[in-house]
Amino acid sequence: MSRLAQTHGLNDVQQEILKTVRDFVDKEIIPVATELEHRDEYPQQIVEGLKELGLFGLMIPEEYGGLGESLLTYALCVEEIARGWMSVSGIINTHFIVAYMLKQHGTQEQKDTFLPRMAAGEVRGAFSMSEPALGSDVSAISSKAVRDGEEYVLNGQKMWLTNGGTSTLVAVLTRSDEGHPEGTAPHKSMTTFLVEKEPGFGEVRPGLTIPGKIDKMGYKGVDTTELIMDNLRIPANRVLGGETGRGFYHMMDGVEVGRVNVAARGCGVAQRAFELGVSYAQQRQTFGKAIAQHQAIQFKLAEMATKVEAAHAMMANAARKKDSGERNDLEAGMAKYLASEYCKEVVEDAFRIHGGYGFSKEYEIERLYREAPMLLIGEGTAEIQKMIIGRRLLEEYRLQG
Ligand SMILES: Cc1cc2nc3c(=O)[nH]c(=O)nc-3n(C[C@H](O)[C@H](O)[C@H](O)COP(=O)(O)OP(=O)(O)OC[C@H]3O[C@@H](n4cnc5c(N)ncnc54)[C@H](O)[C@@H]3O)c2cc1C
Repeated sequence: MSRLAQTHGLNDVQQEILKTVRDFVDKEIIPVATELEHRDEYPQQIVEGLKELGLFGLMIPEEYGGLGESLLTYALCVEEIARGWMSVSGIINTHFIVAYMLKQHGTQEQKDTFLPRMAAGEVRGAFSMSEPALGSDVSAISSKAVRDGEEYVLNGQKMWLTNGGTSTLVAVLTRSDEGHPEGTAPHKSMTTFLVEKEPGFGEVRPGLTIPGKIDKMGYKGVDTTELIMDNLRIPANRVLGGETGRGFYHMMDGVEVGRVNVAARGCGVAQRAFELGVSYAQQRQTFGKAIAQHQAIQFKLAEMATKVEAAHAMMANAARKKDSGERNDLEAGMAKYLASEYCKEVVEDAFRIHGGYGFSKEYEIERLYREAPMLLIGEGTAEIQKMIIGRRLLEEYRLQG
């Protein structure tokens, strides 16, 4: 077990879950990750293993067949999985966000219908806010839902849908004017629809097309797609929570726990980069000694390890805050911002320690170097995190009188 990134105060169940996940990562993920990633191959066998471990239902309440675990347990598992291969954590992340949104905001019928099958990994979730013209500015979405009797008719194009092809339940955010007259604030006229579909590409349901995988620089293996709605008919009972106009809040709530998750991924990737760097530095010789014996390299290792430790502490703090029932947007924003920036820096240092070999696809650090940038963007860019952090600070430190 690593000395870095320890989490104090875990109970026996949490420790047991983490040990099981860590063993699974070491035996089933790390040995195959780079090869699968280079082939951009979906890690089906790993996904089956995660299902058996119950990870698709980790935070789903026990009454729906899940393990009913905390956000902290979930985040620590994600950290371990991302240490093995970040794409695998991406496969469970959107599923986790949709299950969380259902648990928090779904009608009883929606929870009964989806949560047990989500806990078993039979129904797999994806969530869709972004469109070709926007990602940060969610309030500007143009996809639209119009009521027609007991159904809604959805039109529009969505972009950057993680697990777009493999999922069977997509939480889709659209504008919906019904009951929200002209002039209603944009974030009060949005609705989340629970869209069921077949897995795969092409027309996966009448009116719904998943064109194919977007070819990406990293984060391979997991499918990221567009989603096109052309008179897609969705029954009214598939409005999340049964009420239109709440979609913006649903999504922001989901993204908030998603931010802790992205921070955890940054922690996991940074840990792996540190492990690779500290190991290589003791093997490579220059000027008659291991490069780890050069002070400049030791300083790099010191900086890397300090960043791994700091990011882990902030991530665990943000998760604990949410678990305690308190608002955690400030802590989640800070953790996501710091962990993703530190991850990029630690990966770059590990890459430099590898010298020319870091540039070779034979070395794992090459994959991490292409994966780390995704964390700077997903669940809100650094600029968006800083806007959230800044606004919250001004609320907390407002001048009195
Ligand atoms: C691999 C991948 C997977 C993704 N998966 C999903 C998914 O599953 N579901 C989903 O809905 N979305 C997903 N996204 C989309 C992601 O959330 C967006 O890419 C992200 O929010 C940024 O939006 P954008 O790309 O439109 O950039 P923009 O919003 O166009 O921003 C461009 C630049 O401008 C900056 N900027 C924007 N506004 C401001 C401002 N007010 N002040 C200062 N700077 C600003 C940004 O920080 C950024 O640097 C994914 C993206 C990627 C790359």
